[in-house]
Amino acid sequence: MIEPTYINPTRRDLLKKMAALGAITLTGTLSSTVLQSCHSAATIPSKVSGVLKADAAYEDLRTSMVQIANSAKRYPDIIVSPTTEVELLECLQFAKENDLQIVCRSSGHNNAGAVLRNGGMLINMGAFNKFDVDPSKKTMTVQASTRFEQIVPVLKEHDLGFPLGDCGNVAFGGYILGGGLGTNGNHYTQGPACYALISAEVLLESGEKVVVDKERNSDIFWAIRGCGPAFFGIILNYTIQLFEPLGAMVTKSLTFPLEELEAKVRFFDRRMETKDDRVETRIRLKDSPNKGGLVIEVVISAITLKGPTALRDAEKLVQYYMDEGLGQAALSENETKTADVDFEFFHYPPGFRTFTDNIYTDDPKALSAIVAHFENKPDCNISMSLNHFAQVHPFREDACYTPKGKHFINYHVHWMDETLDEAAAHWMKKTEALLKPYRSGHYLNQTECDKFPDHVQACFSKENWMKLARIRKKYDPDNRFFTYLNHV
Ligand SMILES: Cc1cc2nc3c(=O)[nH]c(=O)nc-3n(C[C@H](O)[C@H](O)[C@H](O)COP(=O)(O)OP(=O)(O)OC[C@H]3O[C@@H](n4cnc5c(N)ncnc54)[C@H](O)[C@@H]3O)c2cc1C
Repeated sequence: MIEPTYINPTRRDLLKKMAALGAITLTGTLSSTVLQSCHSAATIPSKVSGVLKADAAYEDLRTSMVQIANSAKRYPDIIVSPTTEVELLECLQFAKENDLQIVCRSSGHNNAGAVLRNGGMLINMGAFNKFDVDPSKKTMTVQASTRFEQIVPVLKEHDLGFPLGDCGNVAFGGYILGGGLGTNGNHYTQGPACYALISAEVLLESGEKVVVDKERNSDIFWAIRGCGPAFFGIILNYTIQLFEPLGAMVTKSLTFPLEELEAKVRFFDRRMETKDDRVETRIRLKDSPNKGGLVIEVVISAITLKGPTALRDAEKLVQYYMDEGLGQAALSENETKTADVDFEFFHYPPGFRTFTDNIYTDDPKALSAIVAHFENKPDCNISMSLNHFAQVHPFREDACYTPKGKHFINYHVHWMDETLDEAAAHWMKKTEALLKPYRSGHYLNQTECDKFPDHVQACFSKENWMKLARIRKKYDPDNRFFTYLNHV
């Protein structure tokens, strides 16, 4: 791991002096766009290697910065890939001297392609991918670009758990910033993964490197926990709490006629007070396997921690719902049991295209509003489900992530064929419009914030939104860092 060294004024002055002495190389040919904002190639006072728009390597590099093939066509002026903190500081310095706005990339998994902006500097943090697990303290320190799949073997070796999201190739950088909804999160953190953050090291616009936690720079710590794809600094690393490992999982899935939809939503609503936080329930819209039309699928998953009674406990948790009468009117029923749960990730092929969005709501009718539209879906793989969290995530003073409701409806549209782009976009827009009247908010990490910029503010309480703006102004008064897509 890197040692926490502090960039103090003396060091900053030194860098400035070095720059003034002409310690400069800018590899790549300067494009006219960048030249307009630069002094001239000969007097650029920082040592930075970057790829510019006019360079032959630019387009391949730009598209490799995002993992989703249908990410928007937005074009940064320069893409830099520093490998050390000193190089990172030089990039920051270069951006300031040339009045370039900055966005950082950890793994480019954000579904809105938030790392691609028009103009400015894209800082690819890919080289910052080291991590260190401390089994005695049950903590890990991960550099921003460390991906889930990197840490899994080490977590397994030490019998530790963490609420990781669906895909193994996601880095912690953006995941924690946006909240982080992962497996068993309700039990581990009673909310998003960012609640497990202990501290972070951040490079600020001023060039100062700071440690942030509940005591030190607590306003930045608050912002990291949920501000999403518009952080006003550079995340170097996080230190995060780890948990007991997963043990058993029992999953019961039942299908019902469509008419049962609202009754089943209310069934789980009534039991929210008593719901165990080891149980996750989902209600999905699905094509009927036998005849035309739709059915609903209700899935109850109970995940227990490792131990001698893990499987039995998980069975009991699921049985509770059956005893309460959930199975009445079921068309079919299926159950799977695993005594030893492993980390499992969703792997998608290169060229994968997707839209992903969601609403939080308390209205049991919300999913019903989408039924007719769901029947008319394009030729894409679409999942549409309503999740009941164990309870509404508790509001926390020390995080800007704002819990917004007891139901979380999220939808994913996946396809591979480029010719379906327009149909997928059209379907997505209509879905958004149909769900909007029911929303109490959105989950920031999985909203299409470039297409629906109003979703961003709706992720926060009014107080948190205003507080975030104040903190941003304090640490980034000149808007050196890009804010949310399609916001100024
Ligand atoms: C198919 C699919 C499945 C998904 N599943 C889940 C899931 O299960 N759970 C979940 O919570 N989310 C999920 N997401 C959402 C996704 O994981 C998040 O958007 C996450 O933010 C991506 O993290 P990243 O590190 O790749 O961010 P990036 O795409 O690299 O960056 C996104 C933004 O975060 C900021 N940022 C990133 N790194 C830094 C840094 N080092 N310093 C400062 N700012 C930085 C920048 O503003 C950047 O624009 C899913 C998305 C898709 C497409």
